Amino acid sequence: MYVPEKIERILYTQEELAERVRQLGERLTSDYGGKNPLFVCVLKGSVVFFADLIRGVRCPLEIEFYKASSYDGTRSTGKVDSKSDVPDITGRDVVLVEDIVDTARTLSDVKARFLEKSPASLKIACLLDKRSCRDERFKNFSADYTGFEIENLFVVGYGLDCSQAFRNLPYIGVYK
Ligand code: 5GP
Ligand code: MG
Repeated sequence: MYVPEKIERILYTQEELAERVRQLGERLTSDYGGKNPLFVCVLKGSVVFFADLIRGVRCPLEIEFYKASSYDGTRSTGKVDSKSDVPDITGRDVVLVEDIVDTARTLSDVKARFLEKSPASLKIACLLDKRSCRDERFKNFSADYTGFEIENLFVVGYGLDCSQAFRNLPYIGVYK
């Protein structure tokens, strides 16, 4: 297996990720059947999770992409950089798909921008949640669908990066 020197240990293997993502897909299938939801991939980190997740949802759906980020290297900058316009979501059942919730600054901001566009509903699916790292202002923020709750670790792989590297690792690893 390819484990770069900067990876301290593997937190979730490819198989563990596949099984959890499959379970989330099952829940989404039963919640969104007959609704033609719009799944929005929050770029870039959630791209791998997104691709796997939507293939586990067994009902008609559409996809969109939205670019937002607040990280620089391994630190949250606290400043959300939303690089694209919110797609036309009026009257749509929207599922925002994010890689990880940390302080929740990014998703709180993205969620507010999406809510301004009057979707019929807006839910959040995230693979990882670092609950203990919430910004005081967003301490009650939680996703509707969560893969795993993790401690305060900096993780990479399965789409998550460190300065753009490691997104191609098929597992989630702890960065040294
Ligand atoms: P928040 O705004 O919730 O603090 O941060 C969310 C974003 O920061 C995530 O979408 C992700 O891009 C990045 N992020 C937070 N924690 C980690 C981490 O442990 N590893 C990586 N690679 N990115 C993280
Ligand atoms: Mg992200």
